This record gives sequence, C-alpha cells and structure tokens, in this order.
Amino acid sequence: MDDKLMLMIPGPTPVPERVLQAMAKHPIGHRSADFSAIFAEVTENLKWLHQTKNDLLILAGSGTAAMEAGIINFLSTGDKVLVGTNGKFGERWGKVCAAYNLDVQYITAEWGKPLDPNEFKQALEADTAKDIKAVIITHSETSTGVINDLPTINQYIKAHGALSIVDTVTSLGACSVPIDEWGLDVVASGSQKGYMIPPGLGFVSVSEKAWKAYETANLPKFYFDLGPYRKNAAKNTTPFTPAINLIFALHAALGMMKQEGLETLFARHDRLRSATRAAVKAMGLPLFGPDECASPAVTAVMPTGVEAEKIRSIMRKKFDIALAGGQDSLKGKIFRIGHLGFVTDRDLLTAIAALEATLQ
Ligand code: PLP
Repeated sequence: MDDKLMLMIPGPTPVPERVLQAMAKHPIGHRSADFSAIFAEVTENLKWLHQTKNDLLILAGSGTAAMEAGIINFLSTGDKVLVGTNGKFGERWGKVCAAYNLDVQYITAEWGKPLDPNEFKQALEADTAKDIKAVIITHSETSTGVINDLPTINQYIKAHGALSIVDTVTSLGACSVPIDEWGLDVVASGSQKGYMIPPGLGFVSVSEKAWKAYETANLPKFYFDLGPYRKNAAKNTTPFTPAINLIFALHAALGMMKQEGLETLFARHDRLRSATRAAVKAMGLPLFGPDECASPAVTAVMPTGVEAEKIRSIMRKKFDIALAGGQDSLKGKIFRIGHLGFVTDRDLLTAIAALEATLQ
C-alpha cells in the first residue's frame, strides 16, 4: 500500500500536503514578475533558515550538485585541501576533489566515530600546512548517524585562514547551523532532507572570502558556475530555467518552517533524536555511534541476534514503514531511522511501536 508508506529514512523525507499542493500548480514563466516575487521570498527565507547574510544560491540538482559547485567555484587544479572523512559522504567529498585533480590530504575516523577536532588543529598548525586552501567536511554524516563538531573544527580552520567547505545536507533544518556566527565559507545542502520538499534542489551559501577565492579559481565549470547565479539572484532570477514547481514547494515549506520558528524546529528534531535513542535502547538494540555525537537527523542501529535487513523487510511489508539500510561496509549490518523534516512525534511513536512489534 504505497499510498500509506511512511518514510522514516534520512531523505527523501515526508512532504506536507500543503507543499504537494503548491507543487501541483501549473508552472509560470521564470522571467515573470510573479516568479521573481516568489523567488525573492524563498531566497530571503532560506537565508533565515541558514542564519546568514551570505549569498544563498539555488541550483537545480541534488545535494551532490551543491557539493560539486562548492569545490569547482573556489579552488584550482592541484590545490592542497584537507578532507575529513568518517563515512560515505566524507568519502564523496574526497571523490569530488580527486575528480578535479586536487591534492587531497585526509583526516579520517572510523565509521560510527566523530572526526577529532584536534587532528584538524595539528594538521593545520603543521609547517607544511600553510598552503592548504580549503578544509572540507561533512557536518551530519548520514551514513552512520554521527554529527561532527563543526564549530570547533571551524575555529581551527579560521585560525589557519583556509576556506571552510561544508556538507550540511542532513544538518540544515534539523539543527542550528548559524553560518554567520560560526563563519562558514561555503555551505552545501539539498532539498529532500530538512527542507520538507522532494529531491531536486541544491543550495550553496557563499561568504565574501569564498567569492575572493572564486576570482582566481580555475577549475572547469559551466552549469554550476556560481558567478552567474549570484548576478541573477540580485535580480531575483536564475541564469537558467529553474525547477519552478520545486521553488513553489520550497516557498510553501519555508512558510511552514517560519510558522514553526527556528527554536521549535530544532527542539522538535532534538526531541525526535533523544526519543529514538531512548526507545531503541529500551528495546535492547545496540545503537551505532555514541550519544554525544548523535545526529539530529538519523539514528543508526546495529542489531545483534537479528538481521538488520530482516527488520527492515518486516517493517516495510507489515507496517508500510520504510527504514534505511547500511551503506558500503555497513550494508546488512545496520539499519537507520530517519527523523528529519516533516516528521512528527506521532510518526516516531508509530515507527517505534512497529519496531517493537517487529522484534517480537
Ligand atoms: N551529503 C549527505 C550528508 C547526504 O546525506 C547526502 C544524501 O543522502 C548527500 C550528501 C548527497 O545528496 P544527493 O543524494 O542529494 O546528491
């Protein structure tokens, strides 16, 4: 009964009826005054959600498009970069950098553990670190349910002077990411997560310092050249045809978020995270990753004595609830419960009750 399918995965996330209805409208011309008015409001509200006065650019593409744009606009061939990896998406940063022939140095942590900020401090204070152009990390590592200590790591990046390039795909909208207060330079995220709309939009916020780097960056780019996006955004438009109906959706979703308010929005995710972890523990299932660095978006569980895939399959078949599996080396070993975006206490209670019944 797919109509009743409950998405408890870390993206795509459930979409409110009001947002679906906004999306179902006929498209309008993207060079019209009506579209520009909506686009202006969406950009303004996105800046509110991102807690920034930096440029906030909207791309037609998924989160990875925003990540790639975050690299190719600010770096040059052979640039030395420091990439933090403790999961699949940190590794993806490494792959994007390698594809553009950057000189990548890694700081790694085991999957399920957070990146150690001290390792960044040491690496950035080393004599050989002066020419590091950017430090690139994932805030909420969706593959493991671990959130990295971005504010502390970013202090070391600022002390060094490199650009910070951050994937906030599953943290933005789920917890506070005060871009201006923390002083983040390039922040990439995607629409199908905390934004409560379907996949298809990527977001990149860009600081003045990053725009300076843009002037000399020489990596090849065309569709994701952010210069034209910036120029057009100043006139409330886009260089190419935007995903108009997704912008309608975002307009409605951001309106709902503004009604909820930032504090309430983050408190809801915090509560969902704590409740999920408490319930999983009470069922005797081992959590994957410690409480201290638990993502507000997704909880990973590593069951013993019962197969993760069997749990997922029963949840799907018997209760119409989709949970996510493990990725790469964690395939078959963990399952992940997504609790970000348009997920309510009632949704979580339903999923937890179903999980309990599945285990019996
Ligand atoms: N980064 C993180 C942390 C993610 O969770 C995801 C998607 O799950 C991505 C990047 C990639 O986003 P997309 O699949 O939208 O390209």
